[in-house]
Order: sequence, then structure tokens, then C-alpha cells
Amino acid sequence: MSGVNEIRSTFLDYFVKQGHEAVASSPLVPHNDPTLMFTNAGMVQFKNVFTGVEKRPYARAVTSQKCVRAGGKHNDLDNVGYTARHHTFFEMLGNFSFGDYFKDRAIELAWNLVTREFELPKDRLLVTVYSEDDEAHRLWKSIAGLPDEKIIRIPTSDNFWSMGDTGPCGPCSEIFFDHGPHIPGGPPGSPDADGDRFIEIWNLVFMQYEQLAGGERVGLPRPSIDTGMGLERISAVLQGTHDNYETDLMRAIIAEVAELTDVDANGPQKASHRVIADHLRAAVFLTADGVLPSNEGRGYVLRRIMRRAMRHAQLLGAKEPLMHRLVPILVREMGRAYPEIVRAEPLASETLLLEETRFRRTLERGLSILEEETAHLSAGGRFSGEVAFKLYDTFGFPLDLTQDALRARDISVDLPAFDAAMARQKAEARANWAGSGEAATDTVWFALRDEVGATEFLGYDTEKAEGVV
Ligand code: ATP
Ligand code: MG
Ligand code: MG
Ligand code: MG
Repeated sequence: MSGVNEIRSTFLDYFVKQGHEAVASSPLVPHNDPTLMFTNAGMVQFKNVFTGVEKRPYARAVTSQKCVRAGGKHNDLDNVGYTARHHTFFEMLGNFSFGDYFKDRAIELAWNLVTREFELPKDRLLVTVYSEDDEAHRLWKSIAGLPDEKIIRIPTSDNFWSMGDTGPCGPCSEIFFDHGPHIPGGPPGSPDADGDRFIEIWNLVFMQYEQLAGGERVGLPRPSIDTGMGLERISAVLQGTHDNYETDLMRAIIAEVAELTDVDANGPQKASHRVIADHLRAAVFLTADGVLPSNEGRGYVLRRIMRRAMRHAQLLGAKEPLMHRLVPILVREMGRAYPEIVRAEPLASETLLLEETRFRRTLERGLSILEEETAHLSAGGRFSGEVAFKLYDTFGFPLDLTQDALRARDISVDLPAFDAAMARQKAEARANWAGSGEAATDTVWFALRDEVGATEFLGYDTEKAEGVV
């Protein structure tokens, strides 16, 4: 059985042998796109290459890209700990063709890797294509020999990718692995596709059109390929489990959590172990790429991730800060592939310790308020938005932490009331703001603050050029 570190290498080596340049992962803070919160796909660092604005000395590339999906359009934060396949931080393996090979070769390369190199049984694989993409349907049939019922036509935008309102776009094709009938969930396109039985492992994007501003779509003279495969998901498959958190790398971190807290990782508090392990990776990698916890923008997303993990540490009975003690195991597991976390180890540990020490001062008090205020509520109940705001404002509980805490009891938060309380506070702050007397500056300041304000990141919601793969 190969470990995650070998599986990553196998992927990279395979494509290098096929004439691809091995390119390092770009940082989690995208240098070429201020509207994008975090790098969320392998193609992000190549956006300008796909549009032709930037030239590279190679026409084929392969990467293992650090990704975070915890904000903006692709937000998987709420799934973490509760599905077998979602992380906030994960690695996306990808091969890219910049106007070089196209659909037939991309399908062939992917199929050969999966069935020959990784030796996955063909009868457990199925694929989706965009409903109008007859060419992809035909190619999967001829190259992979898949029967019609295993080439599922999907009519929705899930299988049509675009870089933004204008620019390169095209159909995509997703490869799924069937983990077997003992896992709940239906095949792609079915009403219960959301389960963990049929798991999407690889997404191939065929960039063949350009969307013009007037609404017209024209064929690209040199179509391109962009693919993304979740390293944790393919590792799970190769290690005989449907569950990303059962792979060697995640298990090592979870075992350390169990060891330090003395709580069984497979008992009723399983989700807490998983949230902690996942959020640890996101926290350390984001810190290593220069993000620090704060009350704005990216820093606030990091703070939310850290504090959510810290509440789960508290749920596991940790009497002292826990997160910083987990940094060494992560560095041991991933430091060779990502030396930046070796360099950032002291900074990440100190940052986590400081944040957890601070947060723990108010955590107990906040949790007891949460307890008192929800004592009378039963499943399906609604928690006061004003109290949720007070927890946020006074006790440093990000809204999603409160939501996560109430999730197990099926209690939701009165969001309109929360937003109203937030708006009221902003209005008061504005009224009380004596300012510098330069009205124009003040307006700009408040506009900025509203944009990247503490709970909603409207400034990033306008992500236009966001990657899907
Ligand atoms: P899903 O439908 O499962 O949410 P996706 O279609 O949003 O996945 P893509 O944008 O196509 O994912 O990303 C390419 C690949 O990255 C996916 O096929 C999957 O293997 C992996 N991936 C995507 N999101 C996550 C995540 N949150 N955690 C782990 N792996 C992920
Ligand atoms: Mg998704
Ligand atoms: Mg998908
Ligand atoms: Mg996909």
C-alpha cells in the first residue's frame, strides 16, 4: 500500500515522463488575483497562461497545488468533519496543456494513470460528461471502453467550466469511484448523489471556447486542458477506504490528537478529531504563506478556522491549548513535500498558542451563555440572532462556530436578526466616528470596512476569475 507522499510522487512522475514540466505549488494567497480569497485550484497560478497574457517556456505542466476552500464561491468549511471527502485544506494534483494536447490525449492520459499505474478496477469507475459534449462521450467509449450507462450526461453547470463572465470556458468530465453499496449515496446526477458512495476523484476541463462580452461563444484556436484530482481522495481509494480521514497522513495527525487528549478517535467524538486534524493543516499552511489571524479578510477566515478547531479541542476536554502541540506531527508528515511549513514551524506554533490562549479566556463563558440560551430549545429550534451576535462581538465566537456548535442539536441561528444586530453596530460605530474631518477619507474607510467586514466578505464574493478545477 502506498502512502500519500508516494501517491503524490507517482502522479508527478507519471506526467513528467509524459513531457510535463513539474511546477511547484503556488502560495495559498494568489499573487495574480486580489479578488480571490485563497488559491482553490491548480489552474489558479496558470490563469494568465490560459488567456495568453503570459508565456511560459513549456506547453505542458504538472503540479500538486495547495488549496483552501473555506470562503467565497467554493466553501467546504461546513462539510468538514461530517463528510468523508471534504477538507478546508487539500492538495489538488493536476496536469495542464497550454494549447498543446487536447481532449483525446487528456482522457487517455487520465485513464491510463488510473487503471494501469494505480491499477483501479475498471468496473468501479464511472464518468460524467457535459450533456452536449458528444465528443467526450464518444472518446470515453472508445478509449476507456466504458459502457453507455457509465458515461453519465450532466446538463448543469457542474459540468461546464468558465473562468469568469468572459474568457476561456468549456465542458468538463468528472471521474468517479464507486466505493460500494455498503456506503450510502447514489451515482452522479441522481437525487442522492450527495452521499459518500460515488466519490468524484478527478475533474478534467476541456477549455475549448472563449466567451465574448456580447454573449457570443467562439471556438479557441488552440484549446487547453486543466485537470484536478484530490490527493486525499485518490489516496483513500488506493488505501482501500472511502474515507479521506482514514488515509495514512490524516490518521497520523488524528492519532496524535487522540494521544494528547486521551479521547478515542473512533468513538462518539470522531468528528472533533477530524475537524481538528483538517483545520490544523489549513492553519499551518495559511500561516506559512503569510496569513495571520485577524478580524478582516483572509485573516478572519483563518481565525474562524483556528477557533473552530479550538472549540473542538475544548470538546475533547483539553485543559490547555492543544493546537500548537500538533504542529510537529504535521511537519513530520508533510514537511518534505512542503519545506515552507518546516520554516514556518516556530511561527505557526506561536501563532496558534497565542490565539488559543486568547480564545480560551472567553470560550468557557461564551459556551455557558450558549448553553443557557439554548436550554429551552429542541431539535428544529431557532437560536436568537442577538445572542449569536453578542457571542461574536464580546466572546469572539465567529458565527459559523456558533452554528457548528448547534448543529449536533439541529438548532439554527436566526440569521436576519444576527445581520440586523451587526448592521446596528456598524451604524453606531459610524455615528460615533469623529473622524479626521476629511469626509472623503472616512467614507472610503467605512466602505472598505464594510467590504471586508468581520463576518461577510462581500469583497471576495464577487470572485469572477475563480477556478473550479
Ligand atoms: P465535489 O463535487 O466533491 O465538491 P468539486 O467538483 O467541487 O468536488 P473540483 O472543483 O472539480 O471539485 O476540484 C477538483 C478535485 O479536487 C475534485 O475532483 C476532488 O477530487 C478534489 N476536491 C475538491 N474539493 C475538495 C475538498 N473540499 N476536499 C478534498 N478534495 C477536494
Ligand atoms: Mg465542491
Ligand atoms: Mg463536483
Ligand atoms: Mg469537479
